[in-house]
Amino acid sequence: MNIVLLGAPGAGKGTQAQKLIEDYRLTHISTGDLLRQAIKAGTPLGLQAQSYMDSGNLVPDELVVGLLKERLAQSDAQHGFVLDGFPRNTAQAEILDASLAEMGYTLDAALLVDVDHEVIIKRLSNRRACKTCGYTATAEVISCPRCSGEMYQRSDDTPESITQRLAVYTEQTSPLIEYYRTQGKLKSVDGDRPVDEVYAEIKVLLGL
Ligand code: AMP
Repeated sequence: MNIVLLGAPGAGKGTQAQKLIEDYRLTHISTGDLLRQAIKAGTPLGLQAQSYMDSGNLVPDELVVGLLKERLAQSDAQHGFVLDGFPRNTAQAEILDASLAEMGYTLDAALLVDVDHEVIIKRLSNRRACKTCGYTATAEVISCPRCSGEMYQRSDDTPESITQRLAVYTEQTSPLIEYYRTQGKLKSVDGDRPVDEVYAEIKVLLGL
């Protein structure tokens, strides 16, 4: 099964993706994680991406698309994937459609995790991530429950960046809801509920 996750930053896409990949052995492809890895490794692409990310803007398509295509071409994607954070605008969605067709993949569903922006602001301000494995939790969690790594606040989880990311989501990413509805692929879940409740509904929606 190949899925795209849609939803504002902080809607819980990463959390739900994690559950899906663990239960169904799918490959999690997060362009945000790929970019953060590039920054950590100090690659030229990472250096170029950092300022866009810190200010809450999208990294230019030409930088992200290459990363995404490279990741999709790896063999583990053949067993099914969950795309988290890509596409972020209509141009990326069109590139994705073309790339998947070229590679012989079909997209089964675009799953929207829907959460009000007020809730998102509270969630992101209180979010912490593991430096080692990327696991996310609230500020009360001091060490990663999965790998004991150190938890930190992402440099783009600041009030200014959060506001900008939500504006970017509204302007550039939310039109994708209509894009996938037109393709008959859109499924939507209310993400403002406990994680396991959201996940249970996702499984029903995806027929899992
Ligand atoms: P995320 O981890 O998905 O919240 O992404 C963090 C940041 O990485 C975003 O605010 C963007 O700056 C950048 N980013 C991630 N995915 C994309 C993408 N598909 N296109 C452009 N920028 C992206």
